[in-house]
Amino acid sequence: MPKIPVKVVKWDEIVDLSNRLATKLKEAYVPDILIAIARGGLVPARLVADALGIYDVISIKVEHWIVTASHTPEARIKYPFTVDLSGKNVLIIDDITDTGDSLILAKNFVRENFKAKEIRTSTLQYIVSSKYIPDYYADTIKDWTWFMYPWNYWEDVINLTKKLIDEGVREDSLEESFKENYGSYPPIPMLSVIEEMKRRKIIA
Ligand code: AMP
Repeated sequence: MPKIPVKVVKWDEIVDLSNRLATKLKEAYVPDILIAIARGGLVPARLVADALGIYDVISIKVEHWIVTASHTPEARIKYPFTVDLSGKNVLIIDDITDTGDSLILAKNFVRENFKAKEIRTSTLQYIVSSKYIPDYYADTIKDWTWFMYPWNYWEDVINLTKKLIDEGVREDSLEESFKENYGSYPPIPMLSVIEEMKRRKIIA
């Protein structure tokens, strides 16, 4: 059994999930503006906006899972700002809801600061243990997994590799140990990962 179950998500799966979410929205709620939760919601928001023909996409940055697969106790809005969305139907969008904290925080923040007419929420994936259920989602996840999305490959592989190095795994065993501990091979060659970790001064 892997220590942390990881699934590497491919771009075509992202396109498929975004299209499925857009199809649900077409039947239920076509918003005037999308609010992407940065950074995970940025790519899904852009794809859903394209599928629905929406030109207004803005973003708020929520920080919660700063290091792969381990979250800080509290989610927070990093750069709070206000904007007047009077009369507008808003859709908040994120890649996944896990604890639910990010969506709860984002929805409250938008409600208190943006004067929107209607606020609904959506994600590509919904983990059933989340304390918040988005209004719309493309996929339901029963068993907790860390989804390595294509916009996070470097960050996730680096963080997960760092855990192995900290446990004493040697450089030449990292690739196999990654598979053993996380259930998937890294989507980036380990040599490039090590090189990048050195460039970022994460390892010497
Ligand atoms: P949460 O506030 O716990 O619902 O999750 C906040 C954000 O952390 C999500 O929008 C994702 O970007 C990231 N995240 C949390 N859990 C996962 C997971 N299981 N797989 C991939 N990303 C995750």
